Amino acid sequence: MSESTPFKSLAELGEFGLIDRIKRQVLQSPDVVCGIGDDCAAVTLPEDKLLLTSKDLLIEDVHFRRCWTDMYSLGRKSAAVNLSDIAAMGGTPHHFYLGVGLPTDLAGIELDNFCRGFLDEALAAQTTLCGGDTCRSNHSLLISVTVQGSVSATQMIRRDGAQEGEALYVSGTLGDSALALALLKKGETPSDYLSQRHHRPTPRLALGRALAEQGLASSMIDISDGLLADLGHILKKSSLGAHIDQQQIPLSPEVRAHLQQHPEDETTILRGGEDYELLFSAPPRRGDDLDQLSSQLNLPLTRIGTLLPAEKRLNIVQLNGSEHQVCAEGFNHFKS
Ligand SMILES: [Mg+2]
Repeated sequence: MSESTPFKSLAELGEFGLIDRIKRQVLQSPDVVCGIGDDCAAVTLPEDKLLLTSKDLLIEDVHFRRCWTDMYSLGRKSAAVNLSDIAAMGGTPHHFYLGVGLPTDLAGIELDNFCRGFLDEALAAQTTLCGGDTCRSNHSLLISVTVQGSVSATQMIRRDGAQEGEALYVSGTLGDSALALALLKKGETPSDYLSQRHHRPTPRLALGRALAEQGLASSMIDISDGLLADLGHILKKSSLGAHIDQQQIPLSPEVRAHLQQHPEDETTILRGGEDYELLFSAPPRRGDDLDQLSSQLNLPLTRIGTLLPAEKRLNIVQLNGSEHQVCAEGFNHFKS
């Protein structure tokens, strides 16, 4: 990160001053032929691979609140949620493009912290910022991120490859981020662990790539909108139904303790989003390989259910043992 002197406001720095300031902080990468500062970026990509592209919008007061997060974490999260989409295809990320609409009340130090977080997350994934755009916003902070990566055509993992009879797995634990958000909304302060899980999600890049390279997963998605909604996407694309055992859903000790006190928050866990864990299907005979991968990566991989014919829809065995059919919905941006 640059040792450049702090600045007070955007008005003082100007758009080109800001771009220069960001450019000085970006590390050179041999695959970037022409980076920040021309009309387009020009990059080389690995031969015989498909180009993966994903874009995410983060809008203040829709996706985040500035009073709930520090700007460094927001920078890291803006990059991480995009990286998570590359992970969900089994790919390797390479290049970022960042667009920001900046409200005039944003202090120079806040913008610097945001950029530092964004570039640290990009660097941790061995990726580079290659371009973008900046503009003044008359209202809230707006962040638009595009990431590009690559994957071998024979290894790419899509949402539509799941087969009947296969097992459903998730990585890590679910519900931590949703619980943190629920507490913030109630005016309470989440623990450090829950805050970290909400504000600094970890893209599961090593897992996604290993599943692709070893041919272990037949379909995959990252859990951004919630377990049920994202499972719903796999079921719809693969024309299947599923059976999920709620007892098997991996929960952190914090979420488990919270649910003991507040069993009514169970739906928060099932429908809450932003875990950025990977949900994937795999043939049951690959269970041992998945156990081995789980210990290699030091990341729990938990079997939570089985894929069924489409007419079985989505069945959930609840904690009390009763089974019921649910609608696979989580967070829908266009529903209130
Ligand atoms: Mg996704």
